[in-house]
Amino acid sequence: MKSITSEIDSFFNNESQISQVIDNYHFREEQLDLANQVAHCFINDEYLVAEAGTGIGKTLAYLLPAVLWSVKEGHRVVISTRTKALQQQIIEKDIPALQKLLAYKFLAVEAKGRENYLCWNKYMSIMGGRKALSEEEQEFIAAIMVWAEKTKSGDRKELSLPGSLMKQWPFVAADRHSCRKDLCRYQDKCFRLHLIRQMEKAHLIITNHALLLSDLMAENNILPEYKYLIIDEAHSFDRESFDKLSCRFSYDDTLMALESLYSHSARYEKGYLQLIKGRYPEWTALIFETGLLIDKSIALTQKIFSQLNRFSPGEGEYARVIKSTELDEPEFLTTLEYYRDWQSNHNLIIKQLNKLKEELSGKDEEGELASYVRLLYELSEQAFLIMEEDINLTDRIIWLEYSHGQVSTICSSLVKIGDTLQEKLYQQLDSLIMVSATLTVEEQFDYFINKIGLTEAMQDSRINTCLKPSPFAYDDNACLCLIPEISSTDSYKFNNDICEILTNIILTGQGKSLVLFTSRKQMQQVAQLIRPLCQQYACPLFVQYEDGESGTVLNGFIEASHALLMGVDTFWEGIDLKGNLLNCIVMVKLPFRPPSEPFSYASDLFCQLKRQNGFKHFLLPDAAVRFKQGIGRLIRGEADRGLVVLLDNRIINMPYGKVFINSSPIKNLVTVNKGELQELYLSWL
Ligand code: SF4
Repeated sequence: MKSITSEIDSFFNNESQISQVIDNYHFREEQLDLANQVAHCFINDEYLVAEAGTGIGKTLAYLLPAVLWSVKEGHRVVISTRTKALQQQIIEKDIPALQKLLAYKFLAVEAKGRENYLCWNKYMSIMGGRKALSEEEQEFIAAIMVWAEKTKSGDRKELSLPGSLMKQWPFVAADRHSCRKDLCRYQDKCFRLHLIRQMEKAHLIITNHALLLSDLMAENNILPEYKYLIIDEAHSFDRESFDKLSCRFSYDDTLMALESLYSHSARYEKGYLQLIKGRYPEWTALIFETGLLIDKSIALTQKIFSQLNRFSPGEGEYARVIKSTELDEPEFLTTLEYYRDWQSNHNLIIKQLNKLKEELSGKDEEGELASYVRLLYELSEQAFLIMEEDINLTDRIIWLEYSHGQVSTICSSLVKIGDTLQEKLYQQLDSLIMVSATLTVEEQFDYFINKIGLTEAMQDSRINTCLKPSPFAYDDNACLCLIPEISSTDSYKFNNDICEILTNIILTGQGKSLVLFTSRKQMQQVAQLIRPLCQQYACPLFVQYEDGESGTVLNGFIEASHALLMGVDTFWEGIDLKGNLLNCIVMVKLPFRPPSEPFSYASDLFCQLKRQNGFKHFLLPDAAVRFKQGIGRLIRGEADRGLVVLLDNRIINMPYGKVFINSSPIKNLVTVNKGELQELYLSWL
């Protein structure tokens, strides 16, 4: 039998055969080398941290050894991506291509969150007339009925309904709280249980970071056991771990849970308990008492969150850390008093519901009541962890999330994310591959390895690193343009300068430019100033959040022949516009995270605990990686060309600017005056 490495060699050396299945395939030494390094790590129980620039073909480079390893050695491999788009691409393009090219049969299963699947129990209750439907819900059910009866996967992605109808999807979707688990009578038909059974048999499981991290939170009871893990788009794995490994106590979720059990207005009462009262009048007294307790809990939830509203966020911010000194202030102490009342009242509700559940044992309602008890118990546990345990811990931060200016969630998050990943994830693995197009800062992996919690593995010499720059001709096809006369980013003239630069671009009457902001507020201000000019010169302007959600503005931009697209956050890394779909990126500022953002705050605390400087060891390298991500939007294919215009002159005026210059894949630096930009832009179209 051929060894895995010799199979990899002969696979990639057979360019003509691969190109029959994969469009525009070209043999690349870097891809072969990366594939061999992945195989080496699987064989020797080692880790690999790899940066593979755009165009290397990193997905195929890890998928092939993963398939060979799982088929030949019988080890399941889990592959996790950050974006749904990449997860989809692997399942719909790369896996079918490998299935055609390889002589081996293998099973690859896509694992997504349960909310993507139809819950057959919910669907049957609706079909059996056991649920009252609104007009919109009736319309939605009518639209999915034929699909629901025929589908084998129950996956919502098979539906191509308009967004207005899909808003009703949660009404029939599986969810943790309503699932009857062992009490469900439709376990044979359940799509989610089918997925779990498929995952047990799978050679490869293709999942996303969100589900992978939820599995860690749920003590590994979502995914089957695995020892080999590949994390693609690994550059943001620490950020996502920070979010997903947090405890959350949400105003909306709490009220929704309580009100779905019982709520009342002056004229009528509603909720699940009312339904039970109608069916079992003998339990009216018990239900009445429970209703009073729920009323009290709703009022206390409102008090807790309105008290928290006294902590106001910074201008334009959507989250705020409660500093340890603020935890002793009267505002927070009053919050804690309300919380304690809420917690003891909440436990009484759970007691009452358990009593009712016992009385209805064996009846249809037992399953649903059990789900409510579980849901309330989880709410109580999350609140307890945040308000009673985590506030006393120095390795966690407490922070508030705002929606429409009001506190929507209170969260507690880890400061040492890497330590938790080490304990809950890496320790369980034989081999780990972390790969992305942007991991290094000035060609060094130290920053990534430290922040992700792999320092110990590095000290044990268990980590291999691999750096493969993009094969695309960046020097010939792209330039990084600086304009020294632009005012500094904190000057009151800066927004006018941004507009002047954008005006130069609009007046060319050609090309498509992406303008990347670091602040939503600044984006709105600039959009307001520039919109009339865009209208006057028939240059469509698409502004994220203002002209629609990311997908909507992106589609509008793709369809236009000459346009400006303005975006923040996700646009720095989440878009892939090949060829003439993008000719220019205007980067307004270097992408430093605000130090007050909870993730930055936690990372800074982490540096302090290690006696490191937060700017040097977190803010700067983090911004350098995001800068590379932003630049990476420009050149997506061999023939792509264009320019990046950076309006933040700290890159030349500050000593740390060289970190960005040294990390940039574009080495061709050009300096122009404002008036010369138009000509430069035209020369790159
Ligand atoms: S097991 Fe849970 S998700 Fe599956 S059909 Fe039953 S209630 Fe729905």
